[in-house]
Amino acid sequence: MGNNIIRDMKKQMEEKDIYEYAKECAFSYMDNVGEREVYPKKDDLELLKRFEEALPTEGCKDTEILKMLHDYGSSNTVAQTGGRYFGFVNGGALPISLATRWLTDVWDQNAVLHIASPITSKLEEICEKWIVELLGLPEGTAAGFVSGSSNAALCALAAARNTLLNRAGWDISKQGLFGAPEIKVVLSQDAHATIIKALSLLGIGYNQIVKVESDSQGRLMIDKLPSLDEKTILILQAGNVNTGAYDDFDTLCDIAQKEGAWIHIDGAFGLWAAASDNTKHLTKGISKADSWSVDAHKTLNVPYDCGIVLCKHRDKIIAAMQARGEYILYGSKRDGMLYTSDMSRRARAVELWAAIKYLGREGIQCLVNNLHENAVYFAKQLRKVGFQVLNDVVFNQVLVNYKDEQTTKNILKQVQDSRICWCGETKWHETYAIRLSVCSWVTTKDDIDKSVSSFVDAISNIANE
Ligand SMILES: *Cc1c(COP(=O)(O)O)cnc(C)c1O
Repeated sequence: MGNNIIRDMKKQMEEKDIYEYAKECAFSYMDNVGEREVYPKKDDLELLKRFEEALPTEGCKDTEILKMLHDYGSSNTVAQTGGRYFGFVNGGALPISLATRWLTDVWDQNAVLHIASPITSKLEEICEKWIVELLGLPEGTAAGFVSGSSNAALCALAAARNTLLNRAGWDISKQGLFGAPEIKVVLSQDAHATIIKALSLLGIGYNQIVKVESDSQGRLMIDKLPSLDEKTILILQAGNVNTGAYDDFDTLCDIAQKEGAWIHIDGAFGLWAAASDNTKHLTKGISKADSWSVDAHKTLNVPYDCGIVLCKHRDKIIAAMQARGEYILYGSKRDGMLYTSDMSRRARAVELWAAIKYLGREGIQCLVNNLHENAVYFAKQLRKVGFQVLNDVVFNQVLVNYKDEQTTKNILKQVQDSRICWCGETKWHETYAIRLSVCSWVTTKDDIDKSVSSFVDAISNIANE
């Protein structure tokens, strides 16, 4: 049996039928995704039960596996690569990046060290330079290619924590965290949940964080800023997850720099505003920070999972992410694992490189502007039909409500049930709201019109109930 399976797999590699079949399923999905319901239907969700089976003793025919996935799996995805998914800041998938990913999946490279994959090491090096230039960050800034902004923030904040403790004469890699001098973390009350999580993984608890009041848009209020010093990490935000708002980096960074604090900017989706002339004013002053976290899988529309940690102080992030082992042979060329918390990683920089090479500066500007313009249009159309827009639509986020909380909830339920588009809910500073994230390159004005129609239908359905 064991030998047969090896023989069969060799045959699969030679004949390639299984790959052809996967391609067929993928193309059928692609052709359908713009038309289908954006969220799985109840009947489809029932089909997920088909996956509930006992651990198989004998294997299964390869095509049957793909067929099962296509039949019961494809319809149970959210149609994120269609044009009308506005729930969470997810983003679609650029064709060039998806195609590149297919190729690199065949390569199956490990981005760990230069000797493990020269091509990946080279493209990480190129991506690092390009992204630093695109976002207008200080020359020589180091980049690590990670699974997403959560991990990017973790790596950056580890570098920050270790550096500040070092300044206080404490070497965390030798002495550990217990008994270490206290460091202060200052952030806005609207900081993203993943930042709090990263801090807690780094031994900094919720009660140790100084939360600063933010204004109606979620921008940290400068006059509420506590005193900062060389043992403070100040965490700012480029793109609030609800409103899309940006902190006043220019002013805040000047204050923090003067006191010697470490500044980190969480720019998971919003940092890309720096890449467009139309939106770059939002990010004025970001280059004064020490570290940044950003996703390629959100605004840039690279497929999941693709995030980037950026650190002005190359030696500090390397010191924080260092691993030792007799068999780890660091070379003179770029060794990717030095910049991330992982050791083995997939070659995600390759599809990022492909995205930037395909789009160029101009294409990226176009992509960013398009998301912004579509969000502004969405807000305008919803306002026209009676919704209240709760935020300044500075980037891609739109928060709306209709009359009161209950009516808004009822409308959202109807909209979700209609499956013409999908969006979620939030509480914005005590006010219940429908939250729309315009983040796919595929979305057109027509998609927004169709979505707005489903909101209008929901209002009239409720009126008739
Ligand atoms: C999405 C998001 C994160 C977390 O990024 P992941 O890629 O999901 O890990 C952090 N901050 C903000 C503002 C986000 O929107």
